[in-house]
Amino acid sequence: MSDVGGAAAQEHVVARGEFACPVEKRDASYVVKHIVLDDEELGEFVLCRSCGSEFPPRVLNPEDHPQQTSLHEAFSLLFSAMIIADGLIKEPEMAMARKLLARHDVDYDMDVLNSDSQRVLGDLADVLREASRHLSLAHRRLLLEGAMLIANADNEFRIEERDLIANAGRHMGFTRTGIGELFDEAAHSAVA
Ligand SMILES: [Zn+2]
Repeated sequence: MSDVGGAAAQEHVVARGEFACPVEKRDASYVVKHIVLDDEELGEFVLCRSCGSEFPPRVLNPEDHPQQTSLHEAFSLLFSAMIIADGLIKEPEMAMARKLLARHDVDYDMDVLNSDSQRVLGDLADVLREASRHLSLAHRRLLLEGAMLIANADNEFRIEERDLIANAGRHMGFTRTGIGELFDEAAHSAVA
């Protein structure tokens, strides 16, 4: 099936947002593109939509302190939202969330979930959008991957959970293609 000689590499936009363009020294919008050849991913780069300059993904890594706070808030809110997405707080989901939060050194008391749930769902979109401005692309992917792990913790990937992850991804600047790729990777790693 593969047509190596004649195949052209394809580019897919997997995420978008605003950054401080190092060339222009001002805010501009960017897209993150994946280069794909015969279904194989060859790499990714950031393209400034204002001046057309290309950068490695680390250009989206912020260096200042807000990142830590944003990461903590985004992690705890997204994970809480995942757990209550289907209206039930299940122990395997809680256990997975505690494990992930500990791994990332995030201090959040999951036991306040019941009382926090209204706030969590109300604020999620805003928090994720705001956090994304301070989070690297790698951290944003980590968040979505964590959400997928929690959704799968009870071996039941429900439609409410899938929708929530897709929405969260959208709020963090990922395109439909980019979110689809993450779902595919999660499915593969679940089988492995
Ligand atoms: Zn630029």
